[in-house]
Amino acid sequence: MFESALQIGRVRGIRIQVHYTWIVIFALLSLSLVANFRATQPEWGAGATYLAAILGVLLFFGSIVLHELGHSLVAVARNIPVRSITLFIFGGVAELEKDSETARDEFWIAIAGPLVSIGLGVLFLVLAALLSGVSEPLSVTSGWLGFINIAVAVFNMVPGFPLDGGRVFRALVWGITGDAARGMRYAVAGGRFTALALFGLGIWMALGLGQLIGGIWFVAIGWFLMNAAEASGRSYTWRAALQDVRAGDLARELPPSVPPGTSLETWVREGVLAGGSRAALVTLPDAGGAGRVVGLVSLSDARKVPREAWDTTPVEEVMTPRSALHVVSAHTGLAEVLELMARNRLNQVPVEEGGALTGWLDRDRVLTALRIRLELGDGKTGGPVP
Ligand SMILES: [Zn+2]
Repeated sequence: MFESALQIGRVRGIRIQVHYTWIVIFALLSLSLVANFRATQPEWGAGATYLAAILGVLLFFGSIVLHELGHSLVAVARNIPVRSITLFIFGGVAELEKDSETARDEFWIAIAGPLVSIGLGVLFLVLAALLSGVSEPLSVTSGWLGFINIAVAVFNMVPGFPLDGGRVFRALVWGITGDAARGMRYAVAGGRFTALALFGLGIWMALGLGQLIGGIWFVAIGWFLMNAAEASGRSYTWRAALQDVRAGDLARELPPSVPPGTSLETWVREGVLAGGSRAALVTLPDAGGAGRVVGLVSLSDARKVPREAWDTTPVEEVMTPRSALHVVSAHTGLAEVLELMARNRLNQVPVEEGGALTGWLDRDRVLTALRIRLELGDGKTGGPVP
């Protein structure tokens, strides 16, 4: 999701990064805080005003990282690894490796962020009181941080997916009814409603109150939430459809083997055109006769070489080496396999069991399985896997 993000740190294996769109919100917030301090604290000099605003905004984004760390550390404690925390134009987001498996996990992961924000808000308000009389700029900035952290907690508790409140709402419906899908449907509906409310609020601010920037901002957040709610709903549907399918259930037989020195021309003619296989395992023959896999060559590898050079290019020159192959275990869930493929732009992955390659999966096969299951209506339908 955030490919051009800059890493700024790492906490317990979680990459903390800043996406370039974050600069926009950083600049907008700094300017608005400068304007706010100028209006309310006209006696401050320019230096104090700008320093207090920059310090305030940086501590605010530090608070957002702590909010996301709240979600992340609870997730990690519940065996859900977290890939990264990203600051971007609409705030922060923690990228979890997988969905919660129980309503309880979902509830605690979701509520942890707002709880951190409330805690920070109270802390900054106490600090503001303590600093009052010591340093007015520090006290006022601390007061603003207290207010804005509590505002972050309150806004995030709106019960629309993918906001934290939507996740809490989903977990509650799921926990009470035992129906995860219903929880998701309600939370996505809440997300759509929240998005529409933000659109309305933004248009009213821009046209009714003449606050153009604020209005555009709310419309933009509404638009972002609408997309995120729809995407989460869709992704949930297909994850549910693939819920009980493992990579091993669907894996095809291993593709044919080809020795490393075979020319692309020969492999394409004999393996692809005559053999009907779009990929081959590049295998060193060994004494046992089974061969040792050193890589995988596919038609897309061949296409990177000009046609006239196929005759003189051995497959080992263009193959993906074994060490670079994304091998999945036969027990990996299919939703996870599909995500791995999408994330790494792979068309096929080898499947292993007990240390040996036992089969392989291509994207078409996974997508066909998904389509059939979606047409059947729900993810719990049993029966043979296509
Ligand atoms: Zn959150």
